[in-house]
Amino acid sequence: MNTQPTNPKREWSLKDFEIGKPLGRGKFGRVYLAREVQSKYIVALKIIFKEQIEKYRIHHQLRREMEIQTSLHHPNVLRLYGWFHDSERIFLILEYAHRGELYRELRKNGYLSENQAATYIASLTRALAYCHEKHVIHRDIKPENLLLDHKGRLKIADFGWSVQSRSKRHTMCGTLDYLAPEMIENKAHDYAVDNWTLGVLCYEFLYGFPPFEAESQGDTFRRIMKVDLSFPPTPIVSAEAKSLISRLLVKDSSKRLSLQKIIEHPWIVKNADPYNQEDMVPEPVSQEDDEGDA
Ligand code: AMP
Repeated sequence: MNTQPTNPKREWSLKDFEIGKPLGRGKFGRVYLAREVQSKYIVALKIIFKEQIEKYRIHHQLRREMEIQTSLHHPNVLRLYGWFHDSERIFLILEYAHRGELYRELRKNGYLSENQAATYIASLTRALAYCHEKHVIHRDIKPENLLLDHKGRLKIADFGWSVQSRSKRHTMCGTLDYLAPEMIENKAHDYAVDNWTLGVLCYEFLYGFPPFEAESQGDTFRRIMKVDLSFPPTPIVSAEAKSLISRLLVKDSSKRLSLQKIIEHPWIVKNADPYNQEDMVPEPVSQEDDEGDA
């Protein structure tokens, strides 16, 4: 589709966009709804001040995030179409996620139905399988980093902490509640950290709070290290869902259920929305994408 601003080789500037309403504010910048003047294509424009990048010394992280996200083309990974800058700011041209943060939906409803939770977990699993194939470990999957498009399809956003790697990693990073034990211990870790996080998220989708939540960080650390997992009596959650969670929240990372096994798990097969899964087939790559990737 030649209306899509997908050619990263094109030189963009602020003149190419009409800026609309603000969509949100993050740690490093603001996000606005925007429309590419020529094609009328709607995007989200993320504006980051160079001063902030210098202050927090995140040049490398940002460049890595941009390079990784540009290279990923999957229906459940938020597209980064391109970027440009002026003297003070960097502008990221992002796919627009109409329904915003999944976190907001979760907080509004308290917890999700098993169908909804399974559909999101299936989407996430497929997106992560795609990322892992490309040697990308996300490491910061949490509800705030998951956005929803106009059809309610899940999009992984924010690759700030992700790494492209073939070897085991040593850096401690990520958000406390979603951290795998090997990351807390600052041990070498690999793709299986994302599988652990899928277990944490599945629990949070179904119960409304993460499994190792505690009053203090120290207590959360201890609960994670012990895999102190318990299922509250309400809301009522099926035994199959609990079995999937228990097979992901396993201390030994090599014993965690693989992404392929998650997709084949009876709870996913029974509950994930097949229509949503039809959308899981990656969209055909347009000619412009081909040019951009060459
Ligand atoms: P961030 O700086 O990425 O944390 O974004 C700040 C907020 O802007 C998010 O919490 C979302 O509510 C909103 N936002 C970010 N990216 C998008 C997008 N691509 N589409 C719609 N809303 C977005």
